Amino acid sequence: MVKCSICGRRAVYTSRTSGHSYCNRHFTDYFSKKVRRTIRKYQLFRPNDHIIVAVSGGKDSLALLHFLKKLSRYSPRWKITALLVDEGISGYRDITIKRFQEIVSDLAINYEIVSFKEELGYTLDQVVSSKHGKEYLPCTYCGVFRRYLLNKAARKIGGTVVATAHNLDDIIQTYIMNIIGNDWDKIIRLAPISGPATHPRLVRKVKPFYEILEKETTVYAIINNLYTGFEECPYARLSLRWYIRRWLNELEEKRPGTKYAILNSLLSILDILSKKTNLSLNEEIDTCIFCGEPSANPICRACDLKTRLSSIELNPDAHKRIDELKHLFTNKYRILPITKQHYTT
Ligand SMILES: [Zn+2]
Ligand SMILES: [Zn+2]
Repeated sequence: MVKCSICGRRAVYTSRTSGHSYCNRHFTDYFSKKVRRTIRKYQLFRPNDHIIVAVSGGKDSLALLHFLKKLSRYSPRWKITALLVDEGISGYRDITIKRFQEIVSDLAINYEIVSFKEELGYTLDQVVSSKHGKEYLPCTYCGVFRRYLLNKAARKIGGTVVATAHNLDDIIQTYIMNIIGNDWDKIIRLAPISGPATHPRLVRKVKPFYEILEKETTVYAIINNLYTGFEECPYARLSLRWYIRRWLNELEEKRPGTKYAILNSLLSILDILSKKTNLSLNEEIDTCIFCGEPSANPICRACDLKTRLSSIELNPDAHKRIDELKHLFTNKYRILPITKQHYTT
């Protein structure tokens, strides 16, 4: 039996980088200290924040909800609302919604549910099986529409900040995916506080689990009885993320500390990008000409995908105008700052 390095009781977790083992109680202390350090270091919250916790229904987001509720004892002016986006994935979402409702009721937290069906007119299952829904992987539609609805709903509820449960593993997976895609303008958005864009309709986004390993959020969820057993979206295996996740886990197994090293690499590059490029941290962004939501592009990604799915009826002139705008967008943003600098110096 592995024993807790502090009290000698049965350990539930061993950190492979430090070699320390922790029992239930000392793991909770270790976890809590680590998250509070991230919150302090990056100043994620303000004393009067109305925190909207984006809940997917999986262990990570339930762990975040549970953790912030506990932490709110020390921040009495915080208001917390849980927000779940129902994408409409049959056999997966229905079960997680039920569990979500039980947990928010136990924790005495207000909640809201917004659904793809109500807001966009179709479920993710319908998108994926539709004629035009094959253009991208399901995770692309889901990711774009989720982010879109989260921001819109959070603002409607009166949230001042959206907390998402992205953990260290999620962050470095996205980092590597964007390196592969040469998407440096997306990498700059991987900081603990969302950026660089500012817009009056954009609610600030923060990631309190930025420095927490997925393994650790899992242990926290199990200890606190939040593990639902329905963790995995049925579409996840189709994504590039799936392969990168497996690869990173193998690498971490062989060389403990690799994941932290990649996070450090990301923090260094964020620093370089914010100093050396024109993507400053307070860059203002556009407003979508269709829906009025914040967008990096004259037409936001959600409206762009909706157009492709043919849910927005357009006449041929409008299509032409969209193509012109997209062309403008391509010229304005697609030349990556680093490359541009490289060629001009
Ligand atoms: Zn202990
Ligand atoms: Zn739009």
